Amino acid sequence: MSNCMWCGCDMPDKFTMMSFFRTPKEEHLCHNCQQLLASYKGELCCKGCGRTSTKEYCLDCQKWLEKDGQLVVCNQALFHYDEAAKDWMSRYKFQGDCLLAWMLIDAIKICLKDYQAYKIVPIPSSKASLVKRQFKAVEYPLQLAGIHYENLLQDVRIGKKQSEKTRQERLLLEQPFKILGNITNKNILLIDDVYTTGSTLHRAAELLKENNVQCVKSVTFFR
Ligand SMILES: [Zn+2]
Ligand SMILES: [Zn+2]
Repeated sequence: MSNCMWCGCDMPDKFTMMSFFRTPKEEHLCHNCQQLLASYKGELCCKGCGRTSTKEYCLDCQKWLEKDGQLVVCNQALFHYDEAAKDWMSRYKFQGDCLLAWMLIDAIKICLKDYQAYKIVPIPSSKASLVKRQFKAVEYPLQLAGIHYENLLQDVRIGKKQSEKTRQERLLLEQPFKILGNITNKNILLIDDVYTTGSTLHRAAELLKENNVQCVKSVTFFR
């Protein structure tokens, strides 16, 4: 007998041939909880941020277009950042239940197959949040999924952690990253946990473009 990692219910172990082929999601979650996170798969999405949109760019991304002249981020999101996702994030990131990362693995593996020509670069955790949490919220699921990634960005911010800042403060922040290593003419796929205002990814993408990256896109676990 094992327990569902989300609701804690008892899951009977079935020793059948099928159990060899179970994905991490099927292995760690009861039938109900496998549907907890709502996938964007098959939906028409905004080309800028990855949220559901019937238009090419959603209203938020149109604002980025007006501001920047061109959109520096082309984001694909795996799951809707709805109430269930917020509960998930609160347990994972703020209560430190790092094993919940297993719930993302199947989707990450499938999605990243489309980005074989890209170097995978996680958005780094700030030093403050690392001290508090003891695990890297963006990198840990990549590790579990066996994804090769490179830490080519360093977070140079100090002080308060991101989620404690107001939206306005966040938008006003100076460039929070610096580049480690050579990225000239490389295709870079940035990975972050949530696309909220988009400002983190825009800053990172701007910096990469200024440093002659060939192409930059991003994937976030949630939008
Ligand atoms: Zn469950
Ligand atoms: Zn958008």
